[in-house]
Amino acid sequence: MVSIHEIKAYAKEAHVPIMQDAGIDFILDYIKSNHVKNVLEIGSAIGYSAIQFASVSDDVHVVTIERDDTMYSEALKNVSNMKLDDRIQIIHGDALDIEVTGTFDLIFIDAAKSQYTKFFLKYSPLLNEGGVIISDNLAFHGMVADISLTKNRNTRQLVNKIKQYIEFLKNNPDFETTFYDIGDGISVSKRLK
Ligand code: SAH
Ligand code: MG
Repeated sequence: MVSIHEIKAYAKEAHVPIMQDAGIDFILDYIKSNHVKNVLEIGSAIGYSAIQFASVSDDVHVVTIERDDTMYSEALKNVSNMKLDDRIQIIHGDALDIEVTGTFDLIFIDAAKSQYTKFFLKYSPLLNEGGVIISDNLAFHGMVADISLTKNRNTRQLVNKIKQYIEFLKNNPDFETTFYDIGDGISVSKRLK
């Protein structure tokens, strides 16, 4: 039997970039206060955040997508050990290639930082009325605010992609986005009627 603490400890040891505590707490509060029932997550890693979301209440169902084989297997194992198979569905594939059916109260984007705009455009039609898209890592360890912290060209390109995504959110006429300096930087985009 594993516990959420052991999953978290494993993530730390194996350097799996799971959500920070403050970010998780923020989303768990959001799920509770808005009675969120259906969550779509892009980027499961080892299932840590999906398990946290599903643990809020028996009413919460999570569909989560993971492309990496090893992460996917770990996620399957963890979800099964936590006895949450009936409420967490893990899809093995690239979120930009697969088709997801269903509609969601919350879509959580936490995968390849270079593809956030594409994820947003592809999945926003699956939002229920009143639903939101939450994005993680918009601060990217402080590098979005201070590009001099980046150590190489690759990282600089990623930081620029995140900046472009932030601009895309700010200028999107169909959504109102609020940015929070919580965890590694979170945004909540609410669809306007
Ligand atoms: N949400 C997790 C952490 C996710 S880490 C948690 O907080 O517990 C990001 C994960 O996204 C990685 O495991 C990576 O393999 C996956 N990923 C990145 N790009 C992806 C894509 N296009 N489709 C599916 N998964 C992707
Ligand atoms: Mg993240």
